[in-house]
Amino acid sequence: MLSDQAFVRYQRQIALPEIGESGQRDLNNAHVLIIGCGGLGSAASLYLASAGVGKLVIVDDDKVEASNLQRQIIYRQNQIGQLKTTAASDQLLAVNPDTRIRTLDKRMDKPQLELEVMLADVVLDCSDNMPTRQMVNQVCFEQNTPLITAAAIGWQGQFSVFDYRDGESKANACYRCLFPFNELKQASKCSDSGVLGPVVGTLGNYQAIAAIQLLATGQFIVATEMLHLFNGLTLEWKTLAISQDSHCSVCGTSEQDANYLCEKPL
Ligand SMILES: [Zn+2]
Repeated sequence: MLSDQAFVRYQRQIALPEIGESGQRDLNNAHVLIIGCGGLGSAASLYLASAGVGKLVIVDDDKVEASNLQRQIIYRQNQIGQLKTTAASDQLLAVNPDTRIRTLDKRMDKPQLELEVMLADVVLDCSDNMPTRQMVNQVCFEQNTPLITAAAIGWQGQFSVFDYRDGESKANACYRCLFPFNELKQASKCSDSGVLGPVVGTLGNYQAIAAIQLLATGQFIVATEMLHLFNGLTLEWKTLAISQDSHCSVCGTSEQDANYLCEKPL
């Protein structure tokens, strides 16, 4: 049963038939792991805390820099120099003091990541590098944990949801089927290229929407195993189906280099 205080706070989403009081209680009991708290994690974590997600685990080993503030909207000028995890936690608690937040200000090795994924209901990949993305995908797949991934560069964004849970909804493709490599070309790295703040924010918001769908209703309503591509110039979306690669080292039947990712920390 929701408290009167909670009912007032969340009434505008409780009024949505897909959520209701039951969905709100599920959100209040949910545990979300957010890998990376840059532009994507900023937007996603703010909306998830606002929506009443009970527990957020935020992972990032960077400090807030002036050049982050153009797009990483969770941070404030007076937080420059602070650990991102500390600064983000302060802002999230300022929005919703009922959210329980745990922070990890380091890069996790695979065993640590496995433990964190085991505890989570859903994982948001908000990281900015391919080795991390591939390891997060591998661990989510192995543990049958849903994964919501996004990326943005320039005016472009991409977003995908993989439902790795057992049963009929088990994914037929994984992130690695889509991107079967460990490094992006130098020009595609966020730290080296331009990127528009609201484009990153749009993709982070999509991640929050997908997470709320899953946590409040028990399933994704958005189509899973699809590549949703956003063009920030035309403001148009395109959606492409992701095919399973039978030789994929994570979800395919081939045994080739299946565990090569284990050696590198995030
Ligand atoms: Zn795969």
